[in-house]
Amino acid sequence: MTLTKKPESRPAAASWGLSKRGIPWEYAPAPESTDHVEIRREYGLFIDNAFGPSRPKASFEVINPATEERLSRVAKASKADVNRSVVAARRAYETVWSRLPGSERAKYLYRIARIMQERSREFAVVETMNSGKPIKESRDVDVPLAAAHFFYYAGWADKLDYAFPGRTPRALGVAAQIIPWNFPLLMLAWKIAPALAAGNTVILKPASTTPLTAYLFADVVRQAELPPGVVNIITGPGEIGMELVRHPDVNKVAFTGSTAVGKMIGRAVAGSRKKLTLELGGKAANIVFDDAPLDQAIEGIINGIYFNQGEVCCAGSRLFVQESVYEPLLDKLKARLSTLRVGDPLDKNTDVGAINSAGQLAKVAELVQSGIAEGAEIFQPDCVLPEKGFFFRPTLFTGVSQSHRIAQEEIFGPVLSVLTFRTPEEAVEKANNTPYGLSAGVWTEKGSRIFKMVAAMKAGVVWANTFNRFDPTSPFGGYKESGYGREGGLHGLGAYLDLSSDGRNGR
Ligand code: NDP
Repeated sequence: MTLTKKPESRPAAASWGLSKRGIPWEYAPAPESTDHVEIRREYGLFIDNAFGPSRPKASFEVINPATEERLSRVAKASKADVNRSVVAARRAYETVWSRLPGSERAKYLYRIARIMQERSREFAVVETMNSGKPIKESRDVDVPLAAAHFFYYAGWADKLDYAFPGRTPRALGVAAQIIPWNFPLLMLAWKIAPALAAGNTVILKPASTTPLTAYLFADVVRQAELPPGVVNIITGPGEIGMELVRHPDVNKVAFTGSTAVGKMIGRAVAGSRKKLTLELGGKAANIVFDDAPLDQAIEGIINGIYFNQGEVCCAGSRLFVQESVYEPLLDKLKARLSTLRVGDPLDKNTDVGAINSAGQLAKVAELVQSGIAEGAEIFQPDCVLPEKGFFFRPTLFTGVSQSHRIAQEEIFGPVLSVLTFRTPEEAVEKANNTPYGLSAGVWTEKGSRIFKMVAAMKAGVVWANTFNRFDPTSPFGGYKESGYGREGGLHGLGAYLDLSSDGRNGR
């Protein structure tokens, strides 16, 4: 860390910026180098291990949300391209991948994991430039976790017969996978690693704003010498995703994204024999009891909602504080919020980067306006935002009632709604008062209370005295409108296998 003295005349920012002797300071810029990264001017569709133009040829622009500058152009797939990718995946499945012993598939997965580790700086920089997330998050969370998923599922590839006692696991065939823009590489790994380990071949459609690490991954696929057609990556708008979902030769559909699109996909798949996993939105409750270690809880609250600019399906966007500690906690929270560094995502000191797109920024701003209009009290630190790019101040609302839109709707931005409760029963009732059920957090020193709360809350994942912890070995997924099926762990492997006794789910 470099400390830079500021001229005395400049107004001191937040108190965190004062040294013990009262001299104002701030972090000097610490930009990550981009020299080692090559982003091509154009990317074609990745089918059968080759990049090629869409047919008919069409493309769209991909920008850096922190600068609004163009990064590349990527091919826009047509219905015919969707068909080509499914044909390639089917051929690879029938002729190569389904015939390989699990131990051979495992070697490929290990190879991919190792290459991702070797190229981790490249992945982290491209991820940050394309998504807007801080480099310290892509470097320390997204990329290592993505590689960890490939390592983890490589370990299962030759042990399928032991993983599900009493069953005879069979691969499903061709998997169509649609992923969002908030964790582009990590979601790719959550989808592709278990699918390949289980013996399926895949077609992945990244979000239109964030396809670049997927195409970098395509390079890794070639470097690892995967047989052609095992992994195919196509880009295009939502309709192309739907073409993929509807394709008759697809056996499995895995989707992460909004609840609205998830419902459409659910309807499109209904009545077919396609196996479906939906990982949708959330409005998680983060509950702080009066016996919780407050300083630790503050870090968990901050991480819970401002990590990745709050663009996280399991973000702790509703904070419930026991009334007796409301005031001290709020004071600490506001002070901590004021220390967050918002700005250039490539700067290693940045805590909150850019919102992924102009559209998402407008959505966040609109919901924040609704919070003000409905009578909640807004607090935002006094930080200076970059002039270009899609930035939004970390925001906190108090005086929020449960009926406010900011307490009900998924904002998917750095916006926290603070509510209070008196008893554990009231906390549970309020926490469960949402159409979603993806995640939750509990802060208390009592183990028995943790177990009681975990059992009572309708959420697929509940963290105790921590938040936003991920591990390839533990399943992740939701209840209610947060979707169904699990990703990660053995459950995530089972989602790519036919475990029925009569082969009902297979071809
Ligand atoms: P979407 O659900 O529209 O996008 C997610 C993925 O689905 C993208 O790859 C998208 O492609 C694709 N898609 C879009 N429409 C269809 C369709 N009809 N059929 C098949 N695939 C489709 O999310 P948005 O990007 O519009 O974000 C809107 C809101 O959704 C956010 O504000 C947030 O609240 C929520 N969201 C939740 C996520 C989560 O992880 N739970 C992730 C992302 C968003 P394309 O990019 O080309 O449109």
